[in-house]
Amino acid sequence: MENFIVSARKYRPKTFDTVIGQQSITSTLKNAIRNNQLAQAFLFCGPRGIGKTTCARILAKTINCENITENIEPCDKCESCTSFNQSISFNIHELDAASNNSVDDIRNLVDQVRIPPQVGKYKVYIIDEVHMLSQSAFNAFLKTLEEPPSYAKFILATTEKHKIIPTILSRCQIFDFKRISIDDIVKQLNYVAKNENISAETNALHIIAQKSDGALRDALSIFDQIVSFTGDKISYKNVIENLNVLDYDYYFKIIETILNNNIPESLLIINEIIDNGFDGQHFLIGLGEHLRNLLVCKDASTLQLLETGEDFKTKYKEQSEKCSVNFLLKALDINNNCDINYKISNNKRLHLEISIMQMCSITSPVSDEAQHTKKTAYTPPPIKKQQVMEKDTSSLKPSPKPEPEKHITDITPQIKKSSDVTPGTISIKQAFKQQNENNKKNEFHDIKEEHQKTADEFSQDQLEKTWKTYISSISEKLPSFSNAIAKNNPVLKENFVIEFKTDNKLIANDKLKISDLSGYLKKELNNYQICLVPIVATKEENNIAYTDQEKFEKMAEKNPAVKKLKEQLNLEIEF
Ligand SMILES: [Zn+2]
Repeated sequence: MENFIVSARKYRPKTFDTVIGQQSITSTLKNAIRNNQLAQAFLFCGPRGIGKTTCARILAKTINCENITENIEPCDKCESCTSFNQSISFNIHELDAASNNSVDDIRNLVDQVRIPPQVGKYKVYIIDEVHMLSQSAFNAFLKTLEEPPSYAKFILATTEKHKIIPTILSRCQIFDFKRISIDDIVKQLNYVAKNENISAETNALHIIAQKSDGALRDALSIFDQIVSFTGDKISYKNVIENLNVLDYDYYFKIIETILNNNIPESLLIINEIIDNGFDGQHFLIGLGEHLRNLLVCKDASTLQLLETGEDFKTKYKEQSEKCSVNFLLKALDINNNCDINYKISNNKRLHLEISIMQMCSITSPVSDEAQHTKKTAYTPPPIKKQQVMEKDTSSLKPSPKPEPEKHITDITPQIKKSSDVTPGTISIKQAFKQQNENNKKNEFHDIKEEHQKTADEFSQDQLEKTWKTYISSISEKLPSFSNAIAKNNPVLKENFVIEFKTDNKLIANDKLKISDLSGYLKKELNNYQICLVPIVATKEENNIAYTDQEKFEKMAEKNPAVKKLKEQLNLEIEF
C-alpha cells in the first residue's frame, strides 16, 4: 500500500474558510485579527473531533503570516507559513495535558514562554485537554496566564468546560464549538470521496455521519475504515454491515405491520432482527428515532429536523402520511416506556414484544368503539338499541338523557361476556384488549361485575370444602401454590368477600393463579359475586425476607432513615 495518510489529517482545513460547521467562530476570530483586538488567551470548548485544534493551528499560522490576505487568511507562501506547513515552526507549541499534566511539564512550557519569537510576531501555545492538568500544574500556569508577554498567545482546548476553574475562565475569551451537523459532515465526506475517486452512496455517508455523532474527525476515520474494507465503492449495504447498524428498512417494515395491526408479522420481524445479532434496546432506540422522524414529517416547520439522505426523506414522508399524529404520539409513548423499563425487565425479549403488540393495537379495529359495534352485531336486540343511541347522539337533536343510559347498562354485560371465553380460543388481539381492560380496573372487581345476577348463598363449611377440593386438584400441578393456600383456611366475610391469609407476597400477587382459584370457587359455589382477597400475613408473622424489596422493607422498618435515604437519592431497588 502506498503512503496512506488518514483522511482526517489529509483533509484537515488549512484556512478559516474551509473549517466545517464553525462559521460563527471563524468569523469572530477573523474579525479580531482584522481589528487587531486579539485576546491574550482563548478557551476553545466543545466535544472531541469538531475542529478545536484545527482552528487553533489556523489562528497561530494566520497571526504569524507576513502577508495576511484581505480575507484574513494565511498567504501559505511566506517563510512563517511554509515552516508551519512543514510542521517545523518554532512559533507553535502544542501540549497535550492528558499525558503531560505534571507541574514539571507546565514549568517547561512557562520557561519557553520567556523566550521571544525569532521569526514571526507571536508564539502560540496550544494546551489540549486543559482540564486534565493537575491542581499544582494549574497554579503554576496561572501566573503566566495573569501576566503574559505581549508576544505570547494561549489557546486552551477542552471537552469539559465545567472542570475549568473560574480563575482560568475569567482570563480567557471563550469559544463554544458546536457539534457539526450531519448535512455538513455528509458534504465533507462527499468532497473527500470525490477527491479520492471513491464512489459513495449518499445514504451510506449519512449513516457514517450519524454514527460519528457530530464529530467530523470520527466520521473521516470511519470513512477510512470502510474504504479499507470495501475498496473504492461505498454502498449503504456494506456500511450498515460494517458499522453494525440496523437497516432502516426494518423500521419502515415494522411500522407498516404495526399500522396493519399485524401482530404475528411484527413478531417475526423482531425475531429476524434479534437473530441478526442486534440488541433489543438498540432496536428500540432506533425505532424511537424512526417514530420521531415520522412525526417531524407531519409539519412543514419541523421538516428541517429530519437528518437523513434524500432517498429516505421521501420514504419518511410517504410513511408519515399513513400515520396519524395520535398514533405516532401513542407509539412514541409506548416505545419510551419500554426503553425506560428495559433494563429492569427479566424477560427482555417479551418486554419488547409486548410493546410492539401494544403499538399494533393502537389502531386496531378491536380496540376503540369499533369493537362494541362489531361484537354486539352477534346479539340482535342490543344492536338495535345501540344503533338508535348512536344515531341520536350523532344527530343534532339531543335525545332525552335517561334512555341511552339504560341502553348502555343493557349492553355492557353482553360485551363483557364475549371477551370471557376460554383462553385457548382467544385471539392475540382479543387477549391484548382484555389485558388492557384488566389493567385499567381492579381485576377482582371486574370479574365480580360480570355475573352479578347469580349469587347462591353458601356457608363457611361449604367454602372450606370447596377450597380443599381445589387444593387437591392442583396439588400435583402446582405444589407450592397449593401448599401456600392450604396453610390457612379461607374466611367468609360479608357480601361474599372471601379473605385468605398467606405469608408469601408472591402468592398474593400472583393474579393469574388467584383468579383461577376465584373462578373455581364461583363456579362450584354458583356465586359470581364472590370476591377473593388475599391478605399477606403481617410482618411479625413473616420473619423471612425473600425478595430484595422485602429485605429493603425490613431494613427500613428497623431504621426509617434508610427509607429517607432511598427517597432523597431517588434510588431504585433492582430485581
Ligand atoms: Zn504567510
